[in-house]
Amino acid sequence: MGREVKEKGPLTAPFPALMGPAMDNTRPIENSLDAFAGSKLAELEAKNQRRTLVDTARTSHMALSVNGGAPLISFTDNDYLGLSTHPDVIEAAKTATDKYGAGSGASRLVTGNHPLYRKLEQTIARIKGTEDAAVFGSGYLANVGIIPTLVGKHDLILADELVHTCIHAGMALSRATVKFFRHNDVDHAAELLAEHRANHGRCIIVVDGIYSMDGDIAPLRALGLLARQNDAWLMNDDAHALGTVGGGRGSAHACRAEGLVPLQMGTLSKAVGSYGGYLAASKPVIDLMRTRARSFIYTTGLPPAAVGASIKALEIIEREQDRVARPVKLAQDFAKAMGLPKPESPIVPLVIGSEVNALKASEALARAGFKVIAFRPPTVPEGTSRLRFSFSATHRDEDIKNLVGACEQLGLGA
Ligand SMILES: *Cc1c(COP(=O)(O)O)cnc(C)c1O
Repeated sequence: MGREVKEKGPLTAPFPALMGPAMDNTRPIENSLDAFAGSKLAELEAKNQRRTLVDTARTSHMALSVNGGAPLISFTDNDYLGLSTHPDVIEAAKTATDKYGAGSGASRLVTGNHPLYRKLEQTIARIKGTEDAAVFGSGYLANVGIIPTLVGKHDLILADELVHTCIHAGMALSRATVKFFRHNDVDHAAELLAEHRANHGRCIIVVDGIYSMDGDIAPLRALGLLARQNDAWLMNDDAHALGTVGGGRGSAHACRAEGLVPLQMGTLSKAVGSYGGYLAASKPVIDLMRTRARSFIYTTGLPPAAVGASIKALEIIEREQDRVARPVKLAQDFAKAMGLPKPESPIVPLVIGSEVNALKASEALARAGFKVIAFRPPTVPEGTSRLRFSFSATHRDEDIKNLVGACEQLGLGA
């Protein structure tokens, strides 16, 4: 009875002493937090390094509508094979959603491991030629999970100076000693190993398979042999290489270095057109990831739609070799017409220099009907702001011709 009275009582402050004076919620808050954020933004704005989001609606054939405007042909996507809008991939996402729901409900080790995961991991392992594979929430999550699982405080990491930001994050979390070698410079890597290897227990050498801002491929054979000689483990981040080089199997296959790269990491969000990250490796390494990688364990499983879409997209990559070969061919056609060096990947950088000029060139191309992003520091080194062209299997030959024409009119190129 006493309980009933309490529940029905008026909701006055139960502990008046803790409430303090009444607050005026209508007054604007001036605090150190907003002051910090505001002044940091102003500083970045002055350097032309402020970034903003624009609404971008994707349709087929690489056409984008930015802020609801007229469609632009995108030469800036990572959707190298057009699979994000492929009808069969979309259908697979829908079927997976119908069958297993919109979300996975929990982390994979709890109850979020819906049956499609197994098929996806088997498909990745088959394409990569490894015993097994582990799928993570994204490529970023894969890198921050894999590296600290394999090396710690007493160990050594050798990294190419241009590796992706999320590898930096993974290296920092591992607390291992990190040494950077000059970009693609195997001799420099060898010198660093000679100097430091003996002082450490385990050692990883980590590179991007294809460098996202430069489009070149890592020298995986030479690095793989060097790693072997020094009891080091070579890891490649194949974010831009799966589906685009090596018959779609990635950079290790493109370099004929399959057996020399025991840790093949990558993403399902670029050529695969879906979302998620992975590590392809031996069974013991993958089992260790599933048991120990924090970004594998303490995060929710992917939505079934993303997993279903990835499986279908990877099957298309295995089957349709013409589609896989086309992005690099178009990049080479473009580079040839522009008098630029022959690319090995679907990425062609055009270094402009200053942030302002890179932005201006990007805006001028937009007025001509093309979406090409200007990449600026800190994504690229200071003074190397650039246009980064990326090519997709769904571009038409005439799209390339028109793009070259627009670049020539603007005085871009060699
Ligand atoms: C895009 C990218 C990633 C991150 O992958 P997400 O799946 O988008 O998180 C990692 N490494 C490289 C080299 C990338 O280009």
